[in-house]
Amino acid sequence: MAIVEKYEAVIGLEIHAQLATSSKLFCGDAASFGAEPNTHISPITMGHPGTLPKTNAKAIEYAIRIGLACGSKITKDNYFARKNYFYPDLPKGYQVSQHTTPICEGGTIRIQLPTGEKNIQLNRIHLEEDAGKSIHDISATDTLIDLNRAGTPLIEMVTEPCIHSAEEAFLFVTEVRKLVRWIGICDGNMEEGSLRCDANISIRLKGVTTLGTRVEVKNLNSIRNIKKAIEFEIDRLIQITETGATIIQQTRSFDANNDTTFSIRDKEDANDYRYFPDPDLAPFHLTDVFIESIQKKLPPLPATLKKQWKTEYDLSDYAIDQLVEDKEEADFYMEWAAASKHYKAIANWMIGPIRATINEGSLNFQQLSSLIPYLVELVELVETNQLSFSVASTKVLKEIIVHPGSPMAYASTNNLLQTGSTDDIEKWIEEVLANHPEEVAAYKKGKKGLLGLFVGEVKKISKGKADPKMTTSLLEQKLT
Ligand code: ADP
Ligand code: MG
Repeated sequence: MAIVEKYEAVIGLEIHAQLATSSKLFCGDAASFGAEPNTHISPITMGHPGTLPKTNAKAIEYAIRIGLACGSKITKDNYFARKNYFYPDLPKGYQVSQHTTPICEGGTIRIQLPTGEKNIQLNRIHLEEDAGKSIHDISATDTLIDLNRAGTPLIEMVTEPCIHSAEEAFLFVTEVRKLVRWIGICDGNMEEGSLRCDANISIRLKGVTTLGTRVEVKNLNSIRNIKKAIEFEIDRLIQITETGATIIQQTRSFDANNDTTFSIRDKEDANDYRYFPDPDLAPFHLTDVFIESIQKKLPPLPATLKKQWKTEYDLSDYAIDQLVEDKEEADFYMEWAAASKHYKAIANWMIGPIRATINEGSLNFQQLSSLIPYLVELVELVETNQLSFSVASTKVLKEIIVHPGSPMAYASTNNLLQTGSTDDIEKWIEEVLANHPEEVAAYKKGKKGLLGLFVGEVKKISKGKADPKMTTSLLEQKLT
C-alpha cells in the first residue's frame, strides 16, 4: 500500500537473557527455575539490612563470553550501580545493574535476510540482577509474590536503532537465542522467561535521518510475539500519523490473545533512577590475561564452522546450515567426520537417519558418541556399495544402537549385504520382467522412464541386496 511505503520503521531491541549459573549474581542462593515459591531467598536476596553481597565470577565470565562472541569491546574497569525504583517484587528498592561501565560495548550480530546478510549493531551488553515475580492469576483478589528469581543474573543486550522490520527483529532474536545456547551461557528457553525482549519502535518518513517518537513494548516472551507486536505497532503508528495526530511516548504491553498492544503508562523522557555506585560491591578490574583465557575457551562459532566445513569438507550450503543449527549436533558431526573421510555422506546421515533417531527421544548424542567406530564402518559399507543406504539406515542402524557391535558382522550374519553377483541379480531381473509384461512392452516402445520402476522392483524382491548400479546396467542390456 502506498501510504505504508512512505514510512520506514525504526526498531531497537533490549534482550534480557538469564545466565545459566548455578547461583545468583550476588549470593549463593540457587538460580534455578521452577522451585517452590520463596525457597531460594536468603537474607541477601531479601535485601535485609547488614547483609553483604558478593559478585559471582561465573556471571562475569559469561558476560565476557558473549561480548567476545559478538566482537564487542570488553570494559576493563567495571563497577555495579544501584538503580533506584520501587516495585513490589524488588525487595531492596533498587536493582543492581551497570550504569556508565557496561561490561561489553558495541559488537554485532549477523542475520541472514532473503536479500543478503545484515549486521545488527549492538550498543552494549551489561550485567544486572533480575527482580522477583508478581503473580496475578492464582488469586482473584490478591497479587502473590515469588522472590526466587530476585537476584538471578541477567545480561541485557541493547541494539542500536538499526532494525527496520518485524522480520529483521525476528531473525535477530532467533540468532541471539542460538548464540547464547551455542556458547552455553543461557538455555534460551523463552517459555520459562530465560530470554525476554523489550521492543522500541518508531516510524519516520523515508529519507529522514532523525528518530521519531518511540513506544516501548515490554516483556515479550516468544519470538512470535515479538514479531506480532512490532507488526501491530508499526501499523498503529502509521495510522496515528496519517490522521494527523501526534504519537506519544508510551510503554505498552502485548496481548497474545488478539495480537494487539495496549498502553500501560506514558513515559517521561528520562526516568530518574538516581544511579550511584553500589558501596557494598567492590569495583572489578578485568586483566587481559583473564579475558584471553575466556577467549581460548570459547567454542568455534557457527560462522567459523561454516567457512571451515565449506573448504575442508566441501559440504553444500544447505547441509552446513542444517548442521550448525545445534551445537551438540555440530560437535557430533565433527567427531564422526574426524574418524572417516566420507564427509558428505556423514552430513546426509546426520540430517537424515541420525536426526530422526535423536528426535525419537530414546537416545542422545552423548550415547551415540560411543558408537562412532561402528557408525564409521556403517558408512564405509554403504559408500563401497556393500550395503544399501535404506537397509543400513533402517535395519542395521537400529541394530547397532540396541546391540552395539560391528555392522559388517550383523549384516553378513543376517544376509543383508548387497550382492554384485551377476547371477543373483539376473535371477531377480528375470522375475521382475516376467511379472511386468505390459511395462516391458511399453519400455521397448520408448517409455524409457520405466527403467526406474524395474530397478525399484528388483530392489524390493532382493530386499535391498541388489547393487543398484549393477542392476541398472544389467536391465539396460536385457531390455535392448
Ligand atoms: P531506555 O534507557 O529508555 O531504555 P535507551 O536509550 O537505552 O533507552 O534505548 C533503548 C532501546 O531503544 C535501544 O535499543 C535503542 O536503540 C532504542 N531506541 C531509542 N530511541 C529509539 C527510537 N526513537 N526509535 C526506535 N528505537 C529507539
Ligand atoms: Mg528500555
